[in-house]
Amino acid sequence: MKTPAKFTKLGGKIPKGALLVGPPGTGKTLLAKAVAGEAAVPFFSLSGSDFVEMFVGVGAARVRDLFKQAKEKAPCIVFIDEIDAIGRSRGRGQMPGANDERENTLNSLLVEMDGFATDSGVIILAATNRPDVLDSALLRPGRFDRQISIDKPDVVGREAIFKVHLKPIKLDASVDPKKLSAQTPGFAGAEIANVCNEAALIAARRDKKAVDMQDFQDAIDRVIGGLEKKTKIISPEEKKIVAFHEAGHAVAGWYLEHADPLVKVSIVPRGVAALGYAQYLPKEQFLYQTDQLMDEMCMTFGGRAAEDIVFGKISTGALSDLERITKMAYSIVTVYGMNAQIGNMSFYDSKASEYNFNKPYSDATAEKIDKEVKGIIDGAYERTKALLLKHRAELDILAKELLEKEILFQADLERLIGKRPFEKLTTYQQFTNGSMDKKEEPAATPEAEVPKEELPKTEEETKS
Ligand code: ZN
Repeated sequence: MKTPAKFTKLGGKIPKGALLVGPPGTGKTLLAKAVAGEAAVPFFSLSGSDFVEMFVGVGAARVRDLFKQAKEKAPCIVFIDEIDAIGRSRGRGQMPGANDERENTLNSLLVEMDGFATDSGVIILAATNRPDVLDSALLRPGRFDRQISIDKPDVVGREAIFKVHLKPIKLDASVDPKKLSAQTPGFAGAEIANVCNEAALIAARRDKKAVDMQDFQDAIDRVIGGLEKKTKIISPEEKKIVAFHEAGHAVAGWYLEHADPLVKVSIVPRGVAALGYAQYLPKEQFLYQTDQLMDEMCMTFGGRAAEDIVFGKISTGALSDLERITKMAYSIVTVYGMNAQIGNMSFYDSKASEYNFNKPYSDATAEKIDKEVKGIIDGAYERTKALLLKHRAELDILAKELLEKEILFQADLERLIGKRPFEKLTTYQQFTNGSMDKKEEPAATPEAEVPKEELPKTEEETKS
């Protein structure tokens, strides 16, 4: 926008639009605003839902209005937030005849984008967290043909974001942005801002002069698990079950080579359903091999297996664990073609509409799939039980300590049951030792394009 001639003099055309793609809270809107600020041009911002109205033609008229204004003020930047509200692919995931109005709005957006010349100086930025549902016409060359991916920050990025949000806060000397960023894997910028604010509020409530590390710990717990329920009455028996359940996850993960390293485990009751949680540090990883998936599954089984071993009875506390395991097992067999009996087949259909109930395989295959999935899950459970029986002593130690302290960090585990038997330093250790200077680059290859939501979840906490 500053020197358009530099790019057009060789005959190139300046792109009209770019799509900012990323999960909520990663700062897409802030980035668009910053771009406009940097270029020192006017900035028009609208949300996709602003165009969606009950009245016929209003949305399309608003699009025309917006572009008319933009052309008058050119050069400028138009920013459309949540573009999926209007840009959803036409004729997909809806009943016939429904929502014609939205389609009209989308059509007029396409027409307007084609209508203005590339030298008009208007650049359109749009943000979405669902690029997969967008109409392919929107993504064609000359429209939003550039996708800028804005992912959740890694450990180095989080430290930088913490430093920004810590600035206005009165800090105690104990507060270390490095440690904070290591304890908040998977947090987006908005959540980090939330942690800083919560910490300040917690410290104020405790009548402190400055915000210290303990306030930040409590704020992180609160953002992950919801409000601490001091009044929630849990019987000692239940508390014991929760302690062994979470200790089971921790021990299983400790002795499985490919499991994500544990950050902390807590049995402070929080929120609606979570009686405890274990927080892990997910690796920056895009490809998973079978043994890695199996280790992940075993770690998730750690809770139920521990209950089974210790009490000889199982509880409903493993619901979300089991949900995750079942999804993983079905993905292994039907999505990633990683099962020998079913073979190198994937029944995943990236083009399928939301109302597609047809299964692309026969009943006989369906039966085989169910059998294989059950085999995988049963195998993983037996393996987990065997592992925990082998480390029964460690399980008891951790559960006992959890009942006393309620929260255990990775360092506590090392103190209680020794170092993890796998040589590789975790990112967490590298980082807390201060030995990590440069940013780790995930090895992304073009082959790594796996549909994101189908990947085994890398979510950091398993609520149970
Ligand atoms: Zn669990």
